[in-house]
Amino acid sequence: MDKIKIKKIYEEKINLLSKYNLFYYDKSKPKVSDQQYDSLKNEILLLEKKYKFLKSKNSPAEAVGHKPSKNFKKFQHRASMLSLSNAFSEEDLKNFEKRILNFLSENKEFKIIYSAEPKIDGISASLTYKNGIFERGLSRGDGKEGEDITANLYTIKDIPKKILDKDFPKDIDIRGEVFIQNSDFESLKEKFANPRNAASGSLRQKNSEDTKKIPLKFIAYTYGFEQGLRQKNQSDYLKKLDEWGFKTNPLNKTISGVKNLIQNYNDIEQQRANLDFDIDGIVYKINNFELQKRLGNVANAPRWAIAHKFSSDKAISKILDIDIQIGRTGALTPVAKIKPINIGGVLVSNATLHNEDEIKRKDIRIGDIVTVERAGDVIPHILSVDLNKRPKKSAKFIFPDKCPSCGSKTEKEFNKITKKFDAVRRCSSEGFKCEKISIEKIKHFISKEALNIDGLGKRVIEKFWNLKLLKKPQDIFKLDFNFIKNLEGWGELSVKNLKNSIEKSRNTSLQRFIYSIGIRHIGIENAKLISDNVKNISTFIEIVKKKKFEKFINIDGIGETQINSLKTFFSEQSNLGILIELEDILNIQSASLIKNGILKNKTFMFTGKLDGISRAEAKSLIENNSGTTVSNISKNLDYLVIGEKPTKRKLEQAKVLKIEIISKNDLLKLLNKIN
Ligand code: NAD
Repeated sequence: MDKIKIKKIYEEKINLLSKYNLFYYDKSKPKVSDQQYDSLKNEILLLEKKYKFLKSKNSPAEAVGHKPSKNFKKFQHRASMLSLSNAFSEEDLKNFEKRILNFLSENKEFKIIYSAEPKIDGISASLTYKNGIFERGLSRGDGKEGEDITANLYTIKDIPKKILDKDFPKDIDIRGEVFIQNSDFESLKEKFANPRNAASGSLRQKNSEDTKKIPLKFIAYTYGFEQGLRQKNQSDYLKKLDEWGFKTNPLNKTISGVKNLIQNYNDIEQQRANLDFDIDGIVYKINNFELQKRLGNVANAPRWAIAHKFSSDKAISKILDIDIQIGRTGALTPVAKIKPINIGGVLVSNATLHNEDEIKRKDIRIGDIVTVERAGDVIPHILSVDLNKRPKKSAKFIFPDKCPSCGSKTEKEFNKITKKFDAVRRCSSEGFKCEKISIEKIKHFISKEALNIDGLGKRVIEKFWNLKLLKKPQDIFKLDFNFIKNLEGWGELSVKNLKNSIEKSRNTSLQRFIYSIGIRHIGIENAKLISDNVKNISTFIEIVKKKKFEKFINIDGIGETQINSLKTFFSEQSNLGILIELEDILNIQSASLIKNGILKNKTFMFTGKLDGISRAEAKSLIENNSGTTVSNISKNLDYLVIGEKPTKRKLEQAKVLKIEIISKNDLLKLLNKIN
């Protein structure tokens, strides 16, 4: 590859990293996971190592954080605020120690004492105290200049505003981490991915009144510029911070020897899920300030400290409970509720247990200490159980033989082909008897491939269900918008948008409609096969009514499994009822309309019972000749076909709108069926 090409690739990566930095540091809304970010950062570092001509001021080897936001006044830091180098293994720690000994020209016998401090995942701040008075507080910014966030920092109770202690230096920048406790994060988790983003977003608000509402905390751990600091090492300094009224981390320790560092790291990793603050590793600092000074800094990090990070795809936590979730097709999926734990920037509180067999195989129990994995986009799952930590009284988990939602019996199907029972256990109820299945069915009904109703997401369906606004899919078309308008989070505009997208969804294809009903084994493809075969909704309903599903055996792709599934689904009378009601509400276009039939561009509506012909057959005749049938009167309607006992209101409306009113015979004449 030539130099120009390499440079171009390098610059593209740098620009992408800068974009991620902007979203993470400035907007507190990361674009990508920490794993993705770190792998891009490593790609850049590898390129720089391989091609020495690559250089950028935005290189992750040089830069710290992100430049201060325009929302704040900015100030120079009196001493730079740096980042930390990372270690991920024992090997990395040994190399770190070796580099220090080399730099100091000491041999292996030289005992290095470290201050080992849990690395709270928040954002750092530098607080200037002159003569004991808190004067100004800056964010880290790009390490050289920070944002003036004094007013916001002032709202934090953990930050002393005045220190009278005689020992307290005349002029000093006290540095530490602003963070949010996990318990306080609960109420903010809708807005932010993790406690770090929540702390950063809350601390860097324009209006300090908004910051005041968030219970931010502050833990002190270092200093920047100082005049009059008497302590000679980090552990004494941490003790003094306590005396001066600052909070310090109760898990701070002094340790020497890599083996002991690893021991402490493992101990703290085990406790991690029980802590009320989020940590992403342990920071090791050379305890002696004199040695720190001698060691100095590399471009963007001190040489005398390193962050020993926890894995970004695995973590240890405790199973608090095992929840059984019920899917649209009745499948019972066990989910472990775990103590929330940050894995690679994402707070994980659920892990799938797949199915009953998986729980048996791994003998997973409530109360177990487990390793949870969340790699890439894969759903978090339990990797292993720490049997040594199992409580004495723990009991095997018994999978329910009754549906936890509706109490129906649960069963595993026998697969005739594999001659084995299915791994998945299912609720045996059909139709809308089981509450949990019903909610999932409605979610499926509105989903993208089905009726595709924008503005009615899964959460909204759950909310409307709880408010008893919905029980069946057809209730979506009868929603009380005046009530919804006044609900929290709703207003005129959102209701108007919802109304529009519901209206839009009334026009749908037969294929989408068949898929939307949510019959097991009838996915998008099978729905298309059936739709192409029956052509229109009326024929489909006729087949359903007469239970003549065997007809579908001739369709290439439809087999016994699908036919049995259709039979079971429609063995429940209420499912047929829903189908008929929806047919009335929706405008379901036929599969392959004869594009230029004699009723092209003509719309029809029915009222009253037609003599000698069913409504379904009449509809089918119209649709087979390129016409459309609708269920609402509007000025765009061409014909209102009336039979016996028509609805008065519809007749009157048609007259007002000057719509042609015709009889069944008139319709047949239009179709050239009679003269
Ligand atoms: P860092 O957070 O890894 O380490 C430095 C920070 O550690 C300090 O600034 C300080 O705030 C903190 N700290 C906590 N306890 C400390 C203690 N006792 N002593 C000293 N410092 C302590 O460094 P960084 O450069 O700010 O951030 C890099 C991290 O941020 C990486 O993990 C990266 O994945 C993540 N990141 C993610 C994205 C994204 O888009 N997902 C973007 C940028 C950065």
